[in-house]
Amino acid sequence: MSSRTSVTNSGRAAHGAVLARRLIQSAALATVLVGVFLVRGNAERWCPFGGIEAAYTYLAEGNMPCSLAVSNFYILGALLVLTLFMRRAFCSHLCPIGTISEWMRRGARRMGLRGFKTSYAADRYLGLLKYGVLIIILWITWRAGELLFRGFDPCYALISRHGEDITAWAYISGGAILVGSLLVTLPFCRWLCPLAAILQPFSRVGLARIRRDHDVCIQCGQCSRVCPAAIPVDRVRDVTTGSCVTCMECVAVCPVAEDGAIQWGPPGARPRRWPSGLVGAAVVLSVIVAVAASYALPAPSFEYSRGTLPAQTETLEVSVTDLTCRGRSNLLVFFFDRDDIFAIPGYLKIEAWPAPEKGRLRVTYDPDEANQEAILEAITEPYYDLSGDRWHLSPFAVEGYDPFGEVVPTEETP
Ligand code: SF4
Ligand code: SF4
Repeated sequence: MSSRTSVTNSGRAAHGAVLARRLIQSAALATVLVGVFLVRGNAERWCPFGGIEAAYTYLAEGNMPCSLAVSNFYILGALLVLTLFMRRAFCSHLCPIGTISEWMRRGARRMGLRGFKTSYAADRYLGLLKYGVLIIILWITWRAGELLFRGFDPCYALISRHGEDITAWAYISGGAILVGSLLVTLPFCRWLCPLAAILQPFSRVGLARIRRDHDVCIQCGQCSRVCPAAIPVDRVRDVTTGSCVTCMECVAVCPVAEDGAIQWGPPGARPRRWPSGLVGAAVVLSVIVAVAASYALPAPSFEYSRGTLPAQTETLEVSVTDLTCRGRSNLLVFFFDRDDIFAIPGYLKIEAWPAPEKGRLRVTYDPDEANQEAILEAITEPYYDLSGDRWHLSPFAVEGYDPFGEVVPTEETP
């Protein structure tokens, strides 16, 4: 094969790989913006880092901080599996911050802003900062049981459409990330991102890696120059560092990639080459699987049980207005545990899916001791607390149930 043909083939492959990644980045960012500003959905429940933040309270207490859901766990699980195969491909394909940051630096470069390049050694030291950020966030979140840090989080400021708890620091740090991205490639992703700190060890043992053949390589150094993670690709045989984001830029830019100078694929004595398009397909597949699992297996994000299950139980499922978060779910338990004329000794388990405006509730009860009307009354009737000598009005209403009229249960399953 002539060198002219090699360069031509390499150029075509580069164009395809780079175009596919940018299309996925654009689609992912557009989905987030449409979901947040047009659909006005709760984007937090799709954040993989939410799965990390919710893990402790879910395992310890069976519930999650407000606005998170089990979909956070599915997204996180899919992302960890993806990382075990494709390293940090999430960062270079799906993360909105990574996409905006990358585009900012590319635009600045086109406008002639030279920016700064860090050495690999400096990059490794600066990269340790993200573990400190992770520890601080998890310590605060797990101790409080709530997402107290999000008031400072620029990403949350965006996806919450400037939520009530946002502080000025969210915009200050967001502005710093944007300005920094004009001068340095992916500064937040490389040095400060707490999710990157979680992914890094999984990425370190990731299966697919960039491999360079020293005998074919012409030592032009272009692969190292384009690497957003400052990896000295032209000086290693296998790129095994966890900071590789599988962007394929190094393969795309190599003038002798078609001759085997640089390849991407699994390890082994006889290197096998995987098509670059595989990484994009795996990224998209992981999102599809996680979203499908979230809808097919919607486990409750709040659980409360008491007593032991008898041989026969019944279940009532209803939609409850104002069942918006974990605090509201705990308030619901307060009404279930009442000791007045609306007490329901036969309820055994409460499972809830809190959501903005109204949440779903499933109550498992002993039909010998309780019935669905008693449950609906316990949810909605005022409760007179004898020990506190005061009334508590219920903030809840059950969809399809009129406390002053007919009982219209939404569903009852044995
Ligand atoms: S340029 Fe190559 S080595 Fe660098 S992050 Fe991208 S895929 Fe990994
Ligand atoms: S692998 Fe390719 S881009 Fe990197 S130094 Fe060798 S020839 Fe140049």
